[in-house]
Amino acid sequence: MRKVIWRGREVLEFVQDGEGPPAVTKPDEVRLRITAAGVCGTDVHIIQGKVRFVEPPLVLGHEFAGVVEECGPAVKRVRPGDRVKCDSVVGCGACSWCLRGATQFCPEGSEFGITRDGAWCEWLVAPERVDSRFSR
Ligand SMILES: [Zn+2]
Ligand SMILES: [Zn+2]
Repeated sequence: MRKVIWRGREVLEFVQDGEGPPAVTKPDEVRLRITAAGVCGTDVHIIQGKVRFVEPPLVLGHEFAGVVEECGPAVKRVRPGDRVKCDSVVGCGACSWCLRGATQFCPEGSEFGITRDGAWCEWLVAPERVDSRFSR
């Protein structure tokens, strides 16, 4: 997989690790082939080392779209070939915050390109619920 890893202040590394697409391992997950990923002001600040809670090494990319390639057996709303855009925040999907659509407050939450590897890469595996076409 080709990806861009932020290694620390002002250092980005382009990597080609020879790995193929990551496997879908949970029933509610989908694998996306990333077709677009944004570069925003937050990314610039992260690269400059100005966002204190973002730690290298990290694949950046928190605004992205892709094509669904593979779905776990419990995925209901999308299927291979669908074009989706995603929320960057991944909540647990079950706590009171997640159930009211406020995943950013989920105590188990994480965010692509901020606290978990993001979308400056070829593929990403994510729970179906982060497909924001269906969010409120
Ligand atoms: Zn942004
Ligand atoms: Zn939650």
